[in-house]
Amino acid sequence: MDFHCHLDLYPDARQVYAQALTRNEFTWLVTTSPRAFAATSKVLPATSRLVISPGLHPEVADSKAGELDMLLGQVRESHVVGEVGLDGSPRYRAHFGLQQAIFGSMLYECQLVGGRVLSVHSRFAANEVLEAFANRPGFGTAVMHWFSGSPSEMARATDIGCWFSVGPAMLESPNGRRLAQMMPRDRVVPESDGPFATVGSKTVMPWDALSTATVLARLWALPEEDAREALISNGRQLSKLLRPVD
Ligand code: MN
Repeated sequence: MDFHCHLDLYPDARQVYAQALTRNEFTWLVTTSPRAFAATSKVLPATSRLVISPGLHPEVADSKAGELDMLLGQVRESHVVGEVGLDGSPRYRAHFGLQQAIFGSMLYECQLVGGRVLSVHSRFAANEVLEAFANRPGFGTAVMHWFSGSPSEMARATDIGCWFSVGPAMLESPNGRRLAQMMPRDRVVPESDGPFATVGSKTVMPWDALSTATVLARLWALPEEDAREALISNGRQLSKLLRPVD
């Protein structure tokens, strides 16, 4: 299972896609721009085991802002949205206002259409992301990807019903492990964040996401098998929300 991967951005995307479909029970392919979503949906189409979602990554807010209307149209047609969110790190701070305008419009659309499930980026902006959610009650359900906020921000996110997707690269850092230890164990799912995420010099693949169970088991003081079962059962729960009703 993998609840956040940029499958379209692997150098050999078609091959990775084919393997993910055989090896993974479920894969969530997030895109970084509305045009990329449109193009990727044709080449790497959704199946009963793979969802693909329209997004507009905050790191490209300035260059893709013109695609906002396209995103809103895609949000109306899709059950899932991502990657979306805010990034307050120094490199992207100059466009933070623009990021907030885009993210706010997208959440408003989600609210209007009765709620969506979102894969959300919140690096150095957890507080602002949570504020944006509070402004749009009924926007849906957020899956906080690679969460790196403070423990109190994590507690707030948990209180409003957020899920968390956790990957091998996140668990390499002491802060990531500390947060993962405190997460609500019935709302944690595995992610790869490949091909951006690496462990050592290896790119994390969609079928590597479940390996997080090994570290989570230690953090949660559980046998590895139980941590794995928890991730799988959470993943099955969440994947029901991600798929269109048949
Ligand atoms: Mn990502």
